Amino acid sequence: DRAHEYLEKIEKSNINAYVQINKDRVLKEAEELEKNEKLKNKPLYGKLIAIKSNINVNGYTISCASKTLENYVSSYDATVVKKIKSQGGLVIGMTNMDEFACGSSGETSYYGATKNPNAEDRIPGGSSSGSAAAVAADLCDMALGSDTGGSIRNPASHCGVVGFKPSYGVVSRQGLCDLAMSFDQIGPLTKNAEDAFVLTNVIKGLDISDSTTVDTPKFEKKNIENYKIGIVKEFMDVSDEKIRNKIEEGIEVFKDLGCKIVELNYNYTDLALPTYYLINYVEFFSATRKYDGRRYGYPIEEVCGEEVLRRILIGKHISEKEFSGKYYKKALQARRLMKMEMLKLFKEVDVIASPTVPKLPHKIGEELTPMEMYAYDVLTVPTNICGMCAGVVKCGDINGIPVGLQIQGKPFDDEKVLSAMIEFE
Ligand code: GLN
Repeated sequence: DRAHEYLEKIEKSNINAYVQINKDRVLKEAEELEKNEKLKNKPLYGKLIAIKSNINVNGYTISCASKTLENYVSSYDATVVKKIKSQGGLVIGMTNMDEFACGSSGETSYYGATKNPNAEDRIPGGSSSGSAAAVAADLCDMALGSDTGGSIRNPASHCGVVGFKPSYGVVSRQGLCDLAMSFDQIGPLTKNAEDAFVLTNVIKGLDISDSTTVDTPKFEKKNIENYKIGIVKEFMDVSDEKIRNKIEEGIEVFKDLGCKIVELNYNYTDLALPTYYLINYVEFFSATRKYDGRRYGYPIEEVCGEEVLRRILIGKHISEKEFSGKYYKKALQARRLMKMEMLKLFKEVDVIASPTVPKLPHKIGEELTPMEMYAYDVLTVPTNICGMCAGVVKCGDINGIPVGLQIQGKPFDDEKVLSAMIEFE
């Protein structure tokens, strides 16, 4: 019945959150699930879960919101999808996104922009735009997104929902179409932090088909009283004043919970965007070589949008032998430095709280330069550069537009971050 309700709501909705819904299939699967006694006590029993269009679900079109793969129908379930199904979850449909997850606005999709349910003339953020918007508009119970440099957290912040990017290696990437494989993680977008906890526990775990995964014990909720919460001055300084003020109000909540606030400096904030984008371009260029039109889809360079093409061309250029020393290797050095210095901060604090995105979302269609678009990511990419985990919870709104508080933790401190998210709510 709930499947019915959601499907009807989706049909009436005009925010363009989904790119594929197979109504008959969802209803049939819901019916079958009801007869399945074995799944009744599972944590996701009957939950309707929206999946980002770069995660393989058997029988669905995994387009990555690109013309390149508009006819690519998947023949298998990604590890995370297998796990969701085994715990009683149902896939409700495939969500809209920035083309190949390249973007922070949701506007680069081949299927058109997704609207922000809180303010329909605004972007919902990206690249997991449809997943965040579907959760915010109550068009599913929960959703999966992917986060390479903020793509779960950025739209979670703009849409006013919860998003969590697990530490690199916690969740299997098998079945995820990669953007930049050394940064990518799959994670939940949910209506509350409790659900993010549950969904993360379901999808995580060692997977022999992704050698970067590690085995982590079940995450349990911890008491965060006496936690040291770091506030990085540079993270506050790059953010708009109104957003800063909201986050400062949020920090008061932690004080009331008995946490101690510690002021910190991170002098490598300026390195974040150049380091991230150089590595992203190189890894994305390499990942796209399989889209040459021979096995499936169209040759990517012939049909893709502007942003994807920019990354392919620059990625090719900077990874060529004569330039790689100048750019790519420098970026790898910067990455190591950023991580070392970041880990030092975590000797003094448990988690770091900050804004998620330094600006409010722009109006759909507004022309931003690539640099302006990339600037949205300055506070989210350090997490991925350093292999850390980070979650976003709503921290009030400005004229009806939500603002998300970001909580970052060091690699494999997922439990601490998730616990802090729950307590904050
Ligand atoms: N906005 C960032 C980019 O375009 C992050 C994307 C992502 O996390 N998938 O690369």
